[in-house]
Amino acid sequence: VVDNLSAGHREFVKWGDFHLCDLGDMDALRAVFAGRNISAVMHFCAFTFVGESVENPQKYYQNNVANTLNLLRVMREFNVDKFIFSSTAAIFGNPVAVPISEDHPLEPINPYGRSKLMVERVLADYARAYDLRYVALRYFNAAGADPDCDVGEWHDPETHLIPLILDAALGKRESLAIFGTDYDTSDGTCVRDYIHVTDLAAAHIGALEHLGRGGASDVFNLGNGTGFSVREIIDTARKVTGRDIPIQEKGRRAGDPAVLIADSTKAMSVLNWKPAHADIGEIVETAWRWQQKLYREYKK
Ligand code: UDP
Repeated sequence: VVDNLSAGHREFVKWGDFHLCDLGDMDALRAVFAGRNISAVMHFCAFTFVGESVENPQKYYQNNVANTLNLLRVMREFNVDKFIFSSTAAIFGNPVAVPISEDHPLEPINPYGRSKLMVERVLADYARAYDLRYVALRYFNAAGADPDCDVGEWHDPETHLIPLILDAALGKRESLAIFGTDYDTSDGTCVRDYIHVTDLAAAHIGALEHLGRGGASDVFNLGNGTGFSVREIIDTARKVTGRDIPIQEKGRRAGDPAVLIADSTKAMSVLNWKPAHADIGEIVETAWRWQQKLYREYKK
């Protein structure tokens, strides 16, 4: 595990070696690769706040693009030829058709989405020119926590819907702000495809096995294929927690498309992947157990 711990947590590196290293520091990165027989790299690190990417695009292009080029360069130096990349539904921009399959137009509407799309383009060029095979996995809304509660979300500041709802349930915040109630959806709030982190993890294993058996470079959309509105998620959390969750209706958040739902049939057929935790009640229930543990054991 390589992390600069700018957002990650040392406590969650529970398996394998840990290297405190920034991808801006190529010599430190070379030292990680030196003397190791590395067969593949999974590259998760990036800045991910849409609003911040609009305010400070340099931060996003520097880390998400330039530092990824550093990593790919060091991989080439050490003849590491398999790469799995965390991409995002943000590369599609405002969808022109849902569910969104891999051949949907790629028109990101903010620097975050553009930074991820740039890396996908770089990977396609590198794979054509060099000895590299890659899989880019476009996550929809990653949600839930490891059912054993070993690891879960711990963001500072927290911006994601489900942990914020659970914070309101725990009384850690007064209320949950609903960003926009005038969208063209069944109840006026945004619809998203929430995919359990354990299912995302399984897709990474599937991608690794795909490359391991000589599979071609490819891109895959990862979601459950079902959308839930913000209000439906709040109602689910009320049922799961048995607690009151006060809400405040606010205006739209800039850059939010009304509906994002994945068509993941390609991942199902090529990677042999099938979500095992698709039930929204289970997703919120695992997040709920984790959120309580987070305050009990970490955010004391
Ligand atoms: N959202 C909301 N209130 C919040 C945070 C999020 O209404 O305090 C909405 C947001 O507008 C979006 C959905 O919840 O429609 C999911 O947002 P999140 O930030 O979790 O993920 P994103 O869709 O931005 O990746």
